[in-house]
Amino acid sequence: MMSVKENLIDLLESIDKEIDLAGRKKDEVKLLAVTKTVDVARIKEIKEFNLNEIGENKVQEIEEKYEALKDDFEFHMIGSLQKNKINKLLGKIKLIHSLDSLDLIEALDKRLKNNDMKLDGLLQVNISKEESKSGFYKDEVAEALEKMHEYKNIHIVGFMTMAPFTDDEKVVRDTFRGLYELKEKLAKNNYDNVDLKYLSMGMSHDYKIAIQEGSNILRIGSKIFGERNY
Ligand SMILES: *Cc1c(COP(=O)(O)O)cnc(C)c1O
Repeated sequence: MMSVKENLIDLLESIDKEIDLAGRKKDEVKLLAVTKTVDVARIKEIKEFNLNEIGENKVQEIEEKYEALKDDFEFHMIGSLQKNKINKLLGKIKLIHSLDSLDLIEALDKRLKNNDMKLDGLLQVNISKEESKSGFYKDEVAEALEKMHEYKNIHIVGFMTMAPFTDDEKVVRDTFRGLYELKEKLAKNNYDNVDLKYLSMGMSHDYKIAIQEGSNILRIGSKIFGERNY
């Protein structure tokens, strides 16, 4: 098995190369290290690469790692959030990528308000319309953004999507392009509490296509820490 350090050297070089090829600027694309199932000691190995934001997909795992990592890293929540776990998450995260229903947004906004807190979030969009995936369908997003003026403690700063898990590059590209085009279109409108600047898309197996299609947050786990065995 390669070390985290070797993996990151390769990955960062590959990302830089892809950004160059796409004619984009390096500081435009952020790498979010996805640390689910990875232990605290291994996570700390990425510090020397100036990576200080990490993504987790379970509230419980954030709770377990929070004390050990909070001085060095900011947490992002990238997995689906159950309403009954919201309280445990408050105050611990910088950004939630997985706002996948108005129901969740309403519940989260209420808890934030009660605690006098604000939070940035991304709407999760199910571009590929896979039934196994959660999120808003593309044609539901404008309506959701209209409603955001009711939820003053959540600030929507962009969108997140996951491409289907397939070797068919075109399917992946169409998904990412779809999200990019949606953002370009809706960013022209003025919605309260909305500022569409981030596109969180691209994982270990499809980050190159995501860079080509305008991603500015890559969520990468196994290419850094090795394959997970759940
Ligand atoms: C696990 C996960 C990732 C990272 O996946 P890798 O294939 O390990 O890079 C990205 N996004 C979400 C939502 C995840 O759950």
